[in-house]
Amino acid sequence: MKEIEKVGIVGSGTMGAGIAQLIIQNGLTAIIYDIDQETVDRARSAIESRLDRLVEKKRASANEVNQFKNHLLTSSDLSELSDCQLVIEATPENMEIKRSIFRRLEEVCSNEAILATNTSSLSITEISGQIQTPKRVAGFHFFNPAPVMPLVEVIHGLKTAPDTVKSLVDFAKRIHKSPVVCKDTPGFIVNRVARPFYGEALKIMNEQVATVDQIDRIMKKVGNFKMGPFELQDLIGIDINFAVTKSVHASFHGETRFRPHYIQERMVQAGSLGRKTKGGFFSYDT
Ligand code: NAD
Repeated sequence: MKEIEKVGIVGSGTMGAGIAQLIIQNGLTAIIYDIDQETVDRARSAIESRLDRLVEKKRASANEVNQFKNHLLTSSDLSELSDCQLVIEATPENMEIKRSIFRRLEEVCSNEAILATNTSSLSITEISGQIQTPKRVAGFHFFNPAPVMPLVEVIHGLKTAPDTVKSLVDFAKRIHKSPVVCKDTPGFIVNRVARPFYGEALKIMNEQVATVDQIDRIMKKVGNFKMGPFELQDLIGIDINFAVTKSVHASFHGETRFRPHYIQERMVQAGSLGRKTKGGFFSYDT
């Protein structure tokens, strides 16, 4: 396999934009693709303003940041990812969307390209189930915000080749991440452990044992967690977190400890998705 120099990213939302930023900050080229040019343009300006803040905070020079920006490409035409050695899919947590993207990626990309998915919980085996070359498909699960969080889970589906896993582990180290290899199980490691963190907090709030604010404050100030369960849901996106809970619950065939809460569903129905809509469990107007 050729050395990875150009990485395609499908989906330019919270994670796609974060992963693209991480890639260009490591001196490699990233091309972000989304359903239309307006969406990728929005992602580009979000990435550029985060990079500019690095200069303000004196964490990078203006010259370095200019070079990073020059390594960022955008497209609303998937065929422009054809010369990427690695493509990372970061579209919504929806099996049908992901499967159709992998079918198209198989047509567009070279046979040697690795096709990875940033799914938080869906089966890698199922995502790659309709393509001819599932051996080059693996999970490559970054955490939010991708440029900052050190961990990446590398997930092998039932048909993933050991070489694919090895290439992703090596690549993760090259971009200064700490990879952990895991099996294709619902929620993998972190998202499985995290389900009760959100689920019990929602129940405690709903039973009026404590408020959103109190629960988050206790977990942060006394429990020493970086974020409380509600602030973290707002950061992740309540829609994404709800989709992950539903998928883990369904994949464990309805195991009750993973059952989603109707409050999550109501928040999604109301379009209160967290930071990205400027309101979720907390308000982000300013
Ligand atoms: P998001 O909603 O912020 O972004 C999704 C992007 O995908 C949007 O820009 C949307 O326009 C685009 N999209 C939708 N359909 C598409 C298609 N057919 N082709 C190309 N682009 C399409 O979602 P996100 O939070 O970035 O999550 C993306 C993936 O990453 C999900 O699988 C999620 O589970 C996973 N993930 C999310 C987080 C998190 O904290 N948000 C953390 C780790 C992993």
